[in-house]
Amino acid sequence: KSKAKLQEPEKQDTTFDDVAGLDNAKKELQEIIEFLKEPDRFKEIGAKLPKGLLMVGPPGTGKTLMAKAAAGEADVPFYSISGSDFMEMFVGVGAKRVRDMFEKAKKTSPSIIFIDEIDSIGRRRGAGLGGGHDEREQTLNQLLSELDGFEPTESVVVMAATNRPDILDKALLRPGRFDRRITVNLPKQSARHEILKIHAKGKPFAEDVDLEQIARSTPGFSGADLENLLNEASLYAGRNKRKEIVMDDIDQARDKVLMGLERDGITID
Ligand code: ATP
Repeated sequence: KSKAKLQEPEKQDTTFDDVAGLDNAKKELQEIIEFLKEPDRFKEIGAKLPKGLLMVGPPGTGKTLMAKAAAGEADVPFYSISGSDFMEMFVGVGAKRVRDMFEKAKKTSPSIIFIDEIDSIGRRRGAGLGGGHDEREQTLNQLLSELDGFEPTESVVVMAATNRPDILDKALLRPGRFDRRITVNLPKQSARHEILKIHAKGKPFAEDVDLEQIARSTPGFSGADLENLLNEASLYAGRNKRKEIVMDDIDQARDKVLMGLERDGITID
C-alpha cells in the first residue's frame, strides 16, 4: 500500500473488552466516548470536547489498542497514521497527508484521528544537525495548524501516542493542542493475568498450564510481549506435534521473549 495515499477510515470492532487493565485510561476516555456518541447533547449545554490527547507509555502497552477501542466504543470512524510513515516521504507529501486526513475526519465527524509515534514528527524543531529535516518540520507545522484550525465543536478527537514525551516540541503540548495526557504503564501482575486470559482465548492448553503463574513469572512484560509469549508457545507446541500447549512450551517461549527483550536493552529482574 502506498504510504502517501490517504488511508480509508477503519470501522473498529475493537472495544474495551479487548483491553485488559488500563482502568484509568478507560475512565479518562469514557467522557470523550460519551461526547462522540451524542455530540449534540453535549453541544447544547455548551460542553467542549478536548481536541488532543497524548497517550504516553512504553512500547506494546496497548496505546494503539486503546485508541481503536475508543473508536469502537463510540462507533465512529478511525483514521490512523504513524509518525514513522512520514520519514520516507518527499517534501510536502507529509503535510498534504495530514491536511487530507483532517479534512476527511471533519467531514465524517464525529471521528477519531490516531497518530502513532508522534515523536518522530513532533520532535523539537531545529534540533537536527544542519537542517535536512524540512519534511518533518513541514509536517509538524501542518499538524499544529490543523489542530488550531478546527473548533472543539467539530467533534474530532486527535489521539497521539509516544514513549518519548520528553523530546516533543513544546508547541504540541500547548493548551488547545495535546493538552491532556493519559499515562499507560507496564501491566502489573493482575493486569498481566487479564491480558493473558484475553490472548489465551481459542488456544488449547494442557491442564498443567496456569495463567496466573505465568503472570507471576513475567514482570516487565508488556501486553504485546505477553501476546507474543502465547504465540511462541503455540508455535513450539505445533513444532512438537502436540495438540495442546504444555507448560514446557510456555517456558521455552518465555526464554525466547526474554532474550529478545535483553537484546533490545531491556533488563528484567
Ligand atoms: P507501540 O508504542 O509499540 O505502538 P502500543 O502501546 O501502541 O505500542 P499496541 O500496539 O496497542 O501497543 O499493543 C500491541 C498488541 O499487544 C495489541 O494489539 C494487543 O494484542 C496486545 N496488548 C497490549 N496491551 C494490551 C492490553 N492491555 N490488553 C490486551 N492486549 C494488549
